Amino acid sequence: MAIPIPSRQLFIDGEWREPVHKNRIPIINPATEETIGDIPAATAEDVEIAVEAARKALVRNGGKDWANATGAHRAKYLRAIAAKITEKKSYLAKLEAIDCGKPLEEAAWDIDDVAGCFEYFADLAEAFDSKRKTPVSVPMDTFKCYVLKEPLGVVGLITPWNYPMLMATWKVAPALAAGCTAILKPSELASITCLELAEVCRDVGLPSGVLNILTGFGPEAGAPLVSHPDVDKVSCDLPFCFSVSCFSFELDVLHCNDHPPSMVNQQIAFTGSSATGSKIMTAAASLVKPVTLELGGKSPIVVFEDVDLDKAAEWALFGCFWTNGQICSATSRLIVHESIAEAFLEKLVKWCKNIKISDPLEEGCRLGPIVSSGQYEKVLKFISTAKDEGATILCGGAQPQHLKKGFYVEPTIITDVKTSMQIWREEVFGPVLCVKTFTSEEEAIELANDTHYGLGAAVLSQDHERCERLTKAFQAGIVWVNCSQPCFSQAPWGGKKRSGFGRELGEWGLDNYLNVKQVTKYE
Ligand code: NAD
Repeated sequence: MAIPIPSRQLFIDGEWREPVHKNRIPIINPATEETIGDIPAATAEDVEIAVEAARKALVRNGGKDWANATGAHRAKYLRAIAAKITEKKSYLAKLEAIDCGKPLEEAAWDIDDVAGCFEYFADLAEAFDSKRKTPVSVPMDTFKCYVLKEPLGVVGLITPWNYPMLMATWKVAPALAAGCTAILKPSELASITCLELAEVCRDVGLPSGVLNILTGFGPEAGAPLVSHPDVDKVSCDLPFCFSVSCFSFELDVLHCNDHPPSMVNQQIAFTGSSATGSKIMTAAASLVKPVTLELGGKSPIVVFEDVDLDKAAEWALFGCFWTNGQICSATSRLIVHESIAEAFLEKLVKWCKNIKISDPLEEGCRLGPIVSSGQYEKVLKFISTAKDEGATILCGGAQPQHLKKGFYVEPTIITDVKTSMQIWREEVFGPVLCVKTFTSEEEAIELANDTHYGLGAAVLSQDHERCERLTKAFQAGIVWVNCSQPCFSQAPWGGKKRSGFGRELGEWGLDNYLNVKQVTKYE
């Protein structure tokens, strides 16, 4: 079932281009530990070329290109990309499964979501044409005020490896829908499908430079993208925008309206760990560059005594072990009512012992390998530290015995956990669930919020009022009631506390890439 891995270059200005330093990064299949190909490693010089290409695509032809096109025009490309991705679904899903180790069936669902997300933002791009300009009522008749939404400019998009193509799409689709041009820097650990996205863009004739894809390491390729200075000197509009009289102000605004954004306002949209997010925010701060940060999590799932145990167990398992436990919003802290804890854990352990752990391409695989040897070592270290700190490994905790190769970790449940322990406090990003019990609603809420993170939180109970109370009390950006993890392109996604800020998806996702300009006319 294995397929050849295409050998690609960087995707810049609509063409494949060898990195300036000609370096490559090996691709390791996490299921076999074999090197199966390589990807190009970009550096600052390549970033420079890509930013230039993206800037030109924004203002090409005297401002008649991407930024000034109608939303309907841009939507045509987004729909064509969605259609091509659907056509290549089975191929892309296999590449994704081989590259990051997720079970093939899950990878196929991701590819469906990728196509759905491009379609959704195509809809928003079309609808945007009538929302671009919105009147604002002000208390003085002599002034007419409106809001103009414009593309931010050139945007840098940096993404992680757990949903390689989907995380890229969450940024690329809204950025392009808004009229921005972009440079995508996917994770060095899983970039294959993002390079295939480049091939899709070529196939559908996306204008060159609108999307550029640079693979490479964070410090070498990501950091120069973050710290790339604003290159507004090429702006042809700048001198007009600061006239002082009201009359010329009005003229100038109309002028700006007819042309692409005068500043190449490089915005950074980042998804990844909180540690890297903090570095990116620091680097962006010196240039006062806007950032959105979608970071890590340690999300709770609170299970009350009135649940249907089977259904609740399914959600608890899905919420933690989906995508091999490598989900930012994984509900990896189980907070279960003391009265049902024993029966509930029995069910979870039974499932963990029967789950099919195998090569992600094998039929029926439910848990594949961890993405890389480094990440695998980290997960095992979390488990051994938990043991050292006095927790109990109820099940799992090691490499499955039937698999001699690959970065596999058994689904692991840890009990006797104290809130001071590392396993309770830090994101593992692997198939590890830690458990605490509670006796009162107040205690459950306190435990749920006992974290620096604030991405997701779930409550399972048949008492709707109680669910409402917990929904309000959770310190999180996303709340699931009687479920865990469902995610829709239409609904906002993002966290609070150290899980970051800003929202992706939905109309909020489009707004990330738009500048809100207030225009006031004196009449
Ligand atoms: P990571 O932070 O190590 O890397 C993420 C990306 O940042 C990669 O492309 C990497 O090359 C790049 N990078 C690294 N150092 C950089 C630097 N100095 N400057 C610029 N770019 C740099 O994260 P990861 O291990 O790839 O992904 C796992 C993390 O992502 C987890 O913490 C997970 O919770 C988080 N995540 C969050 C969400 C969300 O929506 N909140 C979604 C998926 C993953």
